[in-house]
Amino acid sequence: MAKLPIVTVGDPVLEQTAEEVPRITKKVAKLIDDMLETMYEANGIGLAAPQVGVSKRIIVLDVGEGPVVLVNPKIAASSGEEIDVEGCLSIPERWVYVKRATELEVTGRDEKGKPVRIQADGLFARALQHEIDHLDGVLMLDRMIAEAEIIEEPEVEVAELGKGE
Ligand SMILES: [Zn+2]
Repeated sequence: MAKLPIVTVGDPVLEQTAEEVPRITKKVAKLIDDMLETMYEANGIGLAAPQVGVSKRIIVLDVGEGPVVLVNPKIAASSGEEIDVEGCLSIPERWVYVKRATELEVTGRDEKGKPVRIQADGLFARALQHEIDHLDGVLMLDRMIAEAEIIEEPEVEVAELGKGE
């Protein structure tokens, strides 16, 4: 595994629609491993492939319940809404309020290419929406309702910044 550099806002790869992944090749498997390592090293709870400069539809997450890998994720159903604070590894030192669905059903494939269907709520649902947005070139700044001022330790759990610090 290797830690990859995280690209930041302004890089065109973050604005592109990422490509579907037709199958899990060795190269894709290595990318997934590297993305997980990069996410954990950065104390993030989610990371999308465009954030490491690769325009492919792959996301990795860990909201504290172990790693989740999704290839070609699609939101199959969503309900509820809630405004809360998010951060983004590609947008350092900023936290913004974003409205997201509170319950989510996502389909896709896992790291072995096996079809999966995930039910999510709370922080996991928020993080999934944030990461899937990255695959469509959408950043939290495109959805922000207001800037959140977080001077020191965030009191709320923040997408991509929920652990450590
Ligand atoms: Zn992000």
